[in-house]
Amino acid sequence: MSSIARILIDRTEGTILDYSIPEEYRGKVAVGGRVAVPLRNKEVFGTVLELQATSAFPHVKTISRLLVSEEAPLLSLCLLELARWMANYYVTPLHTVLRSFLPGTIRDDSIAKKIRRVVSLIKQASGVEWEGLQRRAPQQQKIIEALLKANEKIPLTALLEQIGVSASSMTALAKAGWILIEEEVCARDPFAGEKVLSSPPPTLNSDQEKVIQVLYEELDSISEKKSSSLPFLLHGVTGSGKTEVYLRAIERALALGKSALVLVPEIALTPQTVERFRSRFETTMGTRLIAVLHSHLSEGERHEEWLRLHRGEARIAIGARSAVFAPLQNLGLIIVDEEHEGSYKQEESPRYHARDVAVMRAHLEKCPIVLGSATPSMESFYNTQNPGAKYRLLELPLRADHQKMPLVRVLDLRLQVRGKQADGVLSFPLRQAITARLELGEQVILFLNRRGFASSLLCQQCGHVCECPHCSLALTFHRTSNTLVCHLCGVTKKLPTVCPECRDPGILQRGMGTQRVEAAIQQAFPAARLARMDTDTMKGKGIFQKTLDRFRSRQIDILIGTQMIAKGLDFPNVTLVGIINADTSLHAPDFRAGERTFQLLTQVAGRAGRGDREGEVMIQTYTPVSPSIQFARHHDYHGFFDQEIALRKQFGYPPFQRMILVQVRGKIQERASFFAAALQKKIRQTLPPEVAVGEAVPAPLERAHGQYRFHIALKGSSAKKMGTALRSVLEKTSFPSGIITTIDVDPQSLM
Ligand code: ADP
Ligand code: ZN
Repeated sequence: MSSIARILIDRTEGTILDYSIPEEYRGKVAVGGRVAVPLRNKEVFGTVLELQATSAFPHVKTISRLLVSEEAPLLSLCLLELARWMANYYVTPLHTVLRSFLPGTIRDDSIAKKIRRVVSLIKQASGVEWEGLQRRAPQQQKIIEALLKANEKIPLTALLEQIGVSASSMTALAKAGWILIEEEVCARDPFAGEKVLSSPPPTLNSDQEKVIQVLYEELDSISEKKSSSLPFLLHGVTGSGKTEVYLRAIERALALGKSALVLVPEIALTPQTVERFRSRFETTMGTRLIAVLHSHLSEGERHEEWLRLHRGEARIAIGARSAVFAPLQNLGLIIVDEEHEGSYKQEESPRYHARDVAVMRAHLEKCPIVLGSATPSMESFYNTQNPGAKYRLLELPLRADHQKMPLVRVLDLRLQVRGKQADGVLSFPLRQAITARLELGEQVILFLNRRGFASSLLCQQCGHVCECPHCSLALTFHRTSNTLVCHLCGVTKKLPTVCPECRDPGILQRGMGTQRVEAAIQQAFPAARLARMDTDTMKGKGIFQKTLDRFRSRQIDILIGTQMIAKGLDFPNVTLVGIINADTSLHAPDFRAGERTFQLLTQVAGRAGRGDREGEVMIQTYTPVSPSIQFARHHDYHGFFDQEIALRKQFGYPPFQRMILVQVRGKIQERASFFAAALQKKIRQTLPPEVAVGEAVPAPLERAHGQYRFHIALKGSSAKKMGTALRSVLEKTSFPSGIITTIDVDPQSLM
């Protein structure tokens, strides 16, 4: 039996050390397990990476204890393998990656101790035992007396404080079988008190039937073959019944004795979504089969949901990004809904993309994976297209209940400005349409596009936007130097005083706040009841849901919101959706700007006409001819894909080339700039010539959190090869103090 464990210590920059396994833990310490070990007179935590018979080091210390006494190790071999892959692919230390895998309370049991634990008496003392206890351990006797008196469970902390006994006498009693210390579970059911009604599943339409047959076949055959399966991309228009397909596939996986993982974007993780799953599975099966993981859970709730999955009690996990690491037993299916969503990318270390990690996990677990979207990412759809495709395409081209797609009109703001008809917020036709809808007692959603970035230059007369000739990216305005800069290749231009296209001096940069829009609309419709939903107004707990409930019960006429309201919402009385400013996201200095705008417009348009009345969508824009807007208007995903993929190919963007973004930041501008330039040189010298290494340039968001930010963009054919080479550069570089360097593989944000 192995007597030595190699432990990756959580802190200390990923040190790996050997420790000996004490007698009592032999056979219990397993790879993927968590332990507490002594290090320089302190107790630290770590993960068991390997077991060995002997160590090359003569003086190894001993493991002090096991964390969370579970039968199975906390991290399965598959998850540990996944972590190793991530560390390598995302150029991030393994201990940083592993931080994302376990909830804080599981990782570190000193946090878990804050969770309410209760103590109860489970043994009646005989007279002899009682005397013995009195003599040997008066403290233990005091505990038993207190429990006898209370005649019910007492919280552990209360007990310790009340009678002033030590925690060790409590543990001794528990070990001797006198008392039971348990975590109070029922108090942390996130759905305690909520009832779900079961709704009968609809009869599938023929398109859904076709899709589900393919998935059934895969689910059935894979459990026999034990080989891995190609990912599926389910492209279905908004309202085509994708969720119904997920539900059926999960049903099958459960019937095969397996579990299922469902990832949804954080903002789509509304009670509405979760309830659809609960009403299908929890009312028929009668148990809490579903565990929900998201950022609004309390620590205790997350702890309990995690353990229920780990023990195999819960067999469906629904969660946002980090739920991709959920400890499901015998995983049989992964669903990634809205796979194109940018929020799947974690913007701090480890900077992983949950969709891509999910694909890798499915490969390692040998289970099918379904990526679903009405507007698949360019990367994913391309993967179904090229010869030797990596993904298999499934399609639902029609709305499930045969409703028509809403009619979309594009309104040219340039004409409105010239005719002095617009106040910059509402054009004349949109204003008229709102009036008409309100008169009919119908509801309106107004969408404000905020993902945009105010520092590209837009001519209000002709809609011209200043772009880089080499990168086809909007140039960003840098106030400090009064220049326009392409932050991918570094081209710098003088700021024009008039529009280069139409010579009008009206060229300007501007953003629009939700507050300003709300004020303008309230002024235009004084009698209408408005509500605004953006990150500023939706801070309190539950306020998001309350506002939506008020909108549903028609206490609100016009809902104004940002990206927050773009998806998942289903309000049958909404017949008009207005998009105030389609342009802002279109001219972000990001090669995905067109794609994001198309996705956003399509999703927002999907909110209209969900009931029996036909819906109408109005898009206001300064650039009506933009393909993103035109294809969204015609609900034409394929058309958009074809023209956008050609552009990506021409300029060498993903999926044709892979990218890595190196960011250097620091409080002192000159130092950060100097170091960024030096690092760029080193990278240029070390990486193979086929990799395009951009100049070190100020980031579009030049300064954030008091730090100056510089970017170096890398483009090449293999992210893995670039990553490996980059790691070797960084390992040989000494970083000056006050300078932080981060690596972002497959970046989603270029800001
Ligand atoms: P998506 O996830 O593709 O946007 P949903 O699964 O939310 O679509 O389905 C949209 C609406 O159509 C929902 O109200 C759903 O209950 C309904 N629906 C789904 N499948 C069917 C079906 N086969 N027959 C009738 N209605 C359906
Ligand atoms: Zn450029």
